[in-house]
Amino acid sequence: MRKFFLISLILLCSILFIIKFNNHNKYLLVHVIDVGQGDSTFIATPSGKTILIDGGEDKNYREVLVNIRKNKFNHIDYMISSHSDSDHNGSLDKILKKINTNKIFMPKENADNKDYLELIYEASNQHKKINRIKKGDKIQIDNDTKIFVLSPESIKEKPNDNSLVLLIKYKNQFLLFTGDASKDIESKIITKYRLPKCTFLKVGHHGSKNSSSKEFLDIIKPKISVISCGYMNRHSHPHKETLNRLKNTNTIIYRTDINGDLTFYLDGKNIYAKDTYQTN
Ligand SMILES: [Zn+2]
Repeated sequence: MRKFFLISLILLCSILFIIKFNNHNKYLLVHVIDVGQGDSTFIATPSGKTILIDGGEDKNYREVLVNIRKNKFNHIDYMISSHSDSDHNGSLDKILKKINTNKIFMPKENADNKDYLELIYEASNQHKKINRIKKGDKIQIDNDTKIFVLSPESIKEKPNDNSLVLLIKYKNQFLLFTGDASKDIESKIITKYRLPKCTFLKVGHHGSKNSSSKEFLDIIKPKISVISCGYMNRHSHPHKETLNRLKNTNTIIYRTDINGDLTFYLDGKNIYAKDTYQTN
């Protein structure tokens, strides 16, 4: 009975979130692009500033570009590579070639994989500086939007733990992007920072059980959680342990492997889904 009530409540909330918008310029747009087993999120502020966090694998550059243009943008102000794994930064060199990009941000890493080197090469080819950011750095996007870098503090052994963990403040709302950072990193973050409740969480490491700890989720209590992963992927992401932990926080879970692209609008107070997405 309790479960039925909870499911009905979640369904009702989802329906309430579904609003068609005629004028996107009033809202912060968050578009999680379906790149299969990988990550890519495009964000546009009402003032017209654009942010791309990751671009999926090398082959995904077309989807990313098509979706940026579908949103009626033709530039990237802030290109951010969360870390050097190819499912995050594989396409960024090609995107850099094809679309006018202003600034590039990455964590410090000791990587030497092909996709990482291609991005470094293309940036230097275009005489673009790569801004290496770390814990404590801040990026002011516009008057209403600011990014706080929560991790990494130093170069870690595991590439996933070099992931940039980004807290984005838009008016009174918070959005959290944790890349593929593990529970160890989450635990370091919650001991160092008093994290706010978050409106939006890009679930860490494609829903792996090694990320999204109960302690972490209990603090940030995300209203909406988005998992980016490939349909029937070989890692079995998202893991059921993560889904259960998320469900216990009463967040609404959306998945790219089920819904494809996912678009949300934020007005500083509320978050709205663009379409009728299936929740998990
Ligand atoms: Zn990944």
